[in-house]
Amino acid sequence: MSLQFATRLKQLPPYLFQEIDRLKAELKAKGVDVINLGVGDPDLPTPKPIIERLKQAAEDPANHQYPSYSGMDRFKHSVARWYGKRFGVDLDPATEVLTLIGSKEGIAHLPLAFIDPGDLALVPSPAYPVYHAATLFAGGESHYLPLYRENGFLPNLDAVSGDTARRTKLLFINYPNNPTGAVAERDFFEKVVSFAREHGVIVCHDAAYTEMAFDGYRPMSFLEVPGAKDVGIEFHSLSKTYSMTGWRLGFAVGNARVLAGLGQVKSNVDSGAFNAIQIAGIEALEGDQGCVAEMQRVYQERRDVLVAGLRRVGLDVEPPKATFYVWCPTPKGYTSAEFTARLLKEAGIVTTPGSGFGEAGEGYIRMALTVTKERIEEAVARIEKLSL
Ligand SMILES: *Cc1c(COP(=O)(O)O)cnc(C)c1O
Repeated sequence: MSLQFATRLKQLPPYLFQEIDRLKAELKAKGVDVINLGVGDPDLPTPKPIIERLKQAAEDPANHQYPSYSGMDRFKHSVARWYGKRFGVDLDPATEVLTLIGSKEGIAHLPLAFIDPGDLALVPSPAYPVYHAATLFAGGESHYLPLYRENGFLPNLDAVSGDTARRTKLLFINYPNNPTGAVAERDFFEKVVSFAREHGVIVCHDAAYTEMAFDGYRPMSFLEVPGAKDVGIEFHSLSKTYSMTGWRLGFAVGNARVLAGLGQVKSNVDSGAFNAIQIAGIEALEGDQGCVAEMQRVYQERRDVLVAGLRRVGLDVEPPKATFYVWCPTPKGYTSAEFTARLLKEAGIVTTPGSGFGEAGEGYIRMALTVTKERIEEAVARIEKLSL
């Protein structure tokens, strides 16, 4: 029998990180000492008190049954308190907070609630690949907003035509940004709110990196801007802040009606996040935040080593104010794919070609600061030997 995948799967670009995993495995099998700067997955362990809390919660039979669809009340209260303390944003835990099985899950399901066939989503390029895939799965189309260095890697909403805006249901934005490391300030978020108001577009701000920031910089929440809650929601994750990528816990906050739509999709697909993990999440949000400061210190130190090294070999990189990504322009004469291939073959360094995040990512590679400072020093030494 010849099995055919559905059109929606055939239309997907290859998932970038699967391909990188394959290449890395191939090199390792050949005995190469691979330095993996490819995938944005924290190498630091989850802080101890969070693990201890999970152990206790896992023992409690009350947590062995189906969780609530929209999330545990206690966890949602804890999210609302954290938002109040961190951003000064008021949230009603009952209607303005939704627990997610990681923020990727929520992002992937959102278009199913708001996109009909033929509708558009505005998707940045380069971007986290899920925005486009999720739009496609819902039968919609992505209209790409290129992010250029000269605009601080912010999309130019004035360039969106009236016709495009009329067909648009969703706008995806993500600051601090993966893959460029760029950050957005209040004036940009204000523009986003007025664009969304004018055109009746729902804003989805992916805010996974607000806590991974350096030099004392404190990224803001989109919801701090007046009117933001009328037009959109913000996705958050415990993955990067508390090194919990494997645990799968995130949340969406903001507009109650948008969250109700997402919640309705979810209640037909999953049955909520494990209560014991949500209880551990409460510990993360409410416990001593020294672990967050320590995480920031570690990545900042690695960033400084990598940026200084890349500058020494003549690559014009900006130190990111936030995220654990260094968005590095390729040397003259190289495409993104050619440069990543050379780093891999001649230096055993895995990086991600910018073009894999969208056409406008061509001319850059992304390096993730997910190995120790010593390994980054080793990567820099290997790059110096390449004579670019
Ligand atoms: C890591 C990351 C997330 C977080 O994903 P989880 O599903 O919460 O682990 C979301 N958005 C972007 C842009 C990311 O890089």
